[in-house]
Amino acid sequence: MTYQIRDVCGRRIDYARISVTDRCNFRCVYCMPHDGVPPLAHDEIMRYEDIIFLCQALSDLGVRKIRFTGGEPLVRKGIVPFLGAFKASFPDISASLTTNASLLGRYARELASVGLSGINISLDTLDPEKFRFVTRRGDMAQAMDGISAALASGIPNIKTNTVPIRGFNDDELPLILSFAWDNGLLPRLIEFMPIGGDVWRKEMFIGEEEILSTLVRHFGALTPQTPDQSAGALPLGPARYYRDAKGRDVGVIAAVSSHFCQTCNRLRITSSGQLRPCLFSNDETPLIGLIRSRDLDGLRSAIVEGMRAKPQRWEQERSGALHMSNIGG
Ligand code: SAM
Ligand code: SF4
Repeated sequence: MTYQIRDVCGRRIDYARISVTDRCNFRCVYCMPHDGVPPLAHDEIMRYEDIIFLCQALSDLGVRKIRFTGGEPLVRKGIVPFLGAFKASFPDISASLTTNASLLGRYARELASVGLSGINISLDTLDPEKFRFVTRRGDMAQAMDGISAALASGIPNIKTNTVPIRGFNDDELPLILSFAWDNGLLPRLIEFMPIGGDVWRKEMFIGEEEILSTLVRHFGALTPQTPDQSAGALPLGPARYYRDAKGRDVGVIAAVSSHFCQTCNRLRITSSGQLRPCLFSNDETPLIGLIRSRDLDGLRSAIVEGMRAKPQRWEQERSGALHMSNIGG
């Protein structure tokens, strides 16, 4: 039997983000402190069989889309066979991945064969030196190879995620959009979110209004899109999409300046099996015991109960000490 998760405000929750690892081969300045975050012990992290069991509970509860993220999901050994096993067990659930592209050169072709619905690729600059600066250890050429491999592989719905940061890439936004459009990628700009208080700085933040006026200066008028207008071509979700006169789309995720809490349909599960009803809230429900004891009824109830804590709306003061890499962005 299929149940549905609804939170106390009646929001139907049908989208889950699962972090498959807290490890990452980058240390992006907007995501982590300089020395990274202390890694969890290996036995604290959900095994792949645990994640499949968790997905059974989520599927029973009406979740229809799962995004696998991290940390960097492609650094976890066995990720591609795991995704294949996931699709074999849950063919009706749409599966997607968020990645920093560094390992796509190695994995894109195999990933294309597992039936992902799409991938999101982080791309904050096109300049190799700035790339090294923002990721603290990444190599632009390797990420570009990864993007090329993804494009050649036939993986559908490839989007780019860019976090505009004042003084870093604000002058590059039009270039990044042009790069994405020229390569058939759908670009999205994500407001810099205050997750992990030691990383975010107000003076580095650029809000949606300023982002849009920069884009209008470069590309001319932008028309807001609705799913109807775009004839199903644009994904539903927290991004607001805009189209320029040449028919090119860009998404803006204004998580800070204009909350999309009213329509938020998602839950998050950290790599250690903590349910997080809201990205900006510290409330967590530990699921790992129920997952490891394979208590399906107990797990479904804990998820439903935990989702009652989903706040009605975002409150910055609730944001905790965890960074995006811990939570699963
Ligand atoms: N490592 C993968 C990657 O970078 O794509 C997946 C995990 S990462 C945490 C997921 C997304 O979160 C990335 O697109 C990244 O840009 C975004 N992100 C991380 N910290 C952020 C922050 N403070 N504000 C906005 N987006 C952030
Ligand atoms: Fe790693 Fe992604 Fe965070 Fe960058 S944004 S440090 S790639 S988890």
